Amino acid sequence: MKRTSLLSVLLAAALSVSMLAGCGSTDDTTATDATTVTTDPPVVTPPADTHLHLDPVAYPDEFDFSDTDSIERYFDMCEILDGVRVSVAKRSKQITMRAKINGTTFSLTVGLDKAEGHTTPEQVVTCAKLFWYCYPQMYARFATKTTPTSVTLNIENEGYEVAHASGDVVHIHDQWLEKNPQDFDCLTHEFAHIMQGGWDGNYCPAFTKDDGEKDTYMIERFADYCRYLYAYKGGYYNDMIWTLHTVQGENTYYKSVRFWVWLDYTYSTNDIDIMLRLQQAVSKKTYGNDAWEPTGEAWGEMFAGTAAEGKDLNTLWEEYAGSQFASAKSKPREQGAKSALLGIAPLRTALQDRYPDGDNYRKVQ
Ligand SMILES: [Zn+2]
Repeated sequence: MKRTSLLSVLLAAALSVSMLAGCGSTDDTTATDATTVTTDPPVVTPPADTHLHLDPVAYPDEFDFSDTDSIERYFDMCEILDGVRVSVAKRSKQITMRAKINGTTFSLTVGLDKAEGHTTPEQVVTCAKLFWYCYPQMYARFATKTTPTSVTLNIENEGYEVAHASGDVVHIHDQWLEKNPQDFDCLTHEFAHIMQGGWDGNYCPAFTKDDGEKDTYMIERFADYCRYLYAYKGGYYNDMIWTLHTVQGENTYYKSVRFWVWLDYTYSTNDIDIMLRLQQAVSKKTYGNDAWEPTGEAWGEMFAGTAAEGKDLNTLWEEYAGSQFASAKSKPREQGAKSALLGIAPLRTALQDRYPDGDNYRKVQ
């Protein structure tokens, strides 16, 4: 028992560190200010019958790796995604799924070697479904020549981070979903980091703080933009626990996730995708940090040909800050309901209209 409670303390400490790094959850009411994040985030428990309603498969308490057939069955998503092949590596406790989607073969390997049963089998399967839901969609829009199509998700009862991404591997702590059973979309955020392919901080939008230190804010804003737009099952889990700060909560362009969601929604078109332009420019190291200052030439290129052409970031921020969009609540009244924000701006469906190929992936429920 002592070991368990020590782990909890370590995990709580790790969560604070993670939030300092900008990968933590945000909502309308909780400031991200480091000084206020000293305890575990609130745990949200779904209604008791939710999982029965969502998924009729009866999962065991633990995977039995001597019975690989049953494990393959739990991960067989043929009914919702054609042609998924599942294989189980008994000794290394890895489950691999492969499927061809719109001409690209993707694979996901879930590594459970260092899991100790805190994440339930049902949650592990949901994590896999989330990958098939969001990763190919993000890939179709943002992939560069080097973006991996094979990704590993390791669920590990070790380390101090909630979740992180490196290369083509994502780690999530084994105890995270146990304590935060709705927070599957922290993985959407990490998969978005894989899309970035290790952006170089010297070539991405950055902000120089008063102490002279550089804040390469766009690395996290981009991942959070993706987390919101590509959230599993249209935000079914995400929106109850992770919402977009209003303009009062995040009051500058470099802190605000919502601002970038607004900018893309308002000014990208079917022909010109501002977030894609940004991803391509940063990936190719087209502009140094100076060009990404609010009035810098990089933004001129990003906005060229859109209705934002000729406007700088400060002007756009003022426009955003005065809008209804900036203040509408993004947490729905109940799970599965539409938030006030989505009521005034159908953000996810608008994106689906721009990228209709994503319909295939969104079948994953
Ligand atoms: Zn992050």
